[in-house]
Amino acid sequence: MGSQRECTRILGLASFRVETVEWEADGSRARIRVWIERRGTRGYECSGCRRRTWRVRDHAERTWDDLPWAEHRVTLVYRQRRVYCRMCGIRTERVAFADPKARITKRLRQVIGLDCQSMPTSHAAVRHGVSWSKARRAEQAFLAEWDCTRPKRRPRHLGADEIHRGKTQKFYTVLSDLVHGEVIGLAKDRTEASLTGLLNTCLDPRQRAAVKAVCTDMHQPYLNAVSGAEEGRHRLRQIPCPAARLRRARRGPPAGVLSGGRRDACLWAR
Ligand SMILES: [Zn+2]
Repeated sequence: MGSQRECTRILGLASFRVETVEWEADGSRARIRVWIERRGTRGYECSGCRRRTWRVRDHAERTWDDLPWAEHRVTLVYRQRRVYCRMCGIRTERVAFADPKARITKRLRQVIGLDCQSMPTSHAAVRHGVSWSKARRAEQAFLAEWDCTRPKRRPRHLGADEIHRGKTQKFYTVLSDLVHGEVIGLAKDRTEASLTGLLNTCLDPRQRAAVKAVCTDMHQPYLNAVSGAEEGRHRLRQIPCPAARLRRARRGPPAGVLSGGRRDACLWAR
C-alpha cells in the first residue's frame, strides 16, 4: 500500500495519522485494519469536561468501523488513553471522530442513518457490513443529533389524535404540527394525562404561546386536556367547526359537534 502520508490523506481525519495498514485476509473485498495515532498532540482531551491533560493512566486498543475504501471495509484501531483529569478523575480520552462508547465513526453513522430513512434497518446493516443492532443504534444516534440541531419551530396549528397499535400496545396519543405534517410527540394511552403531558413537555412556553388552534376529535379527555393546558389569557376556547356551522345552518345541531354519524372534529382556537 502507499506511503503513510498518502494513507493519512485518504483517511482524512484531522489530527490523526496512519501508522500501519493491515489486510485481515486475502481477496478483493478483504477488510483493512488501519492503525492510527494522534499527530500534533497538545495533550489528551478528557471525555467528561474536554480539558486537556498529559497525565495518562493507561491505554487500551479500541476499534471503530469506518467508511469503506472502495470495496474494502475499514476498521480503525487506536490506542485510546485513560487520563487523570483534575475535575473528573479517571476518564477516557475524547476522540473527535466517534461518539463516546460508539463502535463506528461519526461519518459512517451519518451514512447508515441516511440509508435507514429510505430502506429497512436490516438492509442498511447488510449494505454497510454491520450487525442489525449496530445499524439500529447508528440510526437512533443520527436521528437524535438531527432532532437537537434542527431549528425549533413554533407551530401555530396543532392536531391531537390517537392511533391503535394492536391488542398488547393499545393506544398512543399523537401530537402533530398540522401545517408541516410533523409529529411533535407520542405518548402511551389516550388519557387526559397523555395529551397534557405532551402539550407541556414537547412544547416550551414560547411555543405554547404561539399556538393559534388545536384540532382534536370529540374524545372527552382530549377536550379536557386542551381546554386545561393553558392558563389565563392564553386559554384556548372551543369554537364551532366551519363544517359544524354549515350543518347547524341547515339542520341546527349544537355548535362544536358534528352530528349525523361524523362526530369526529372539534376545533379550539384563541
Ligand atoms: Zn474532565
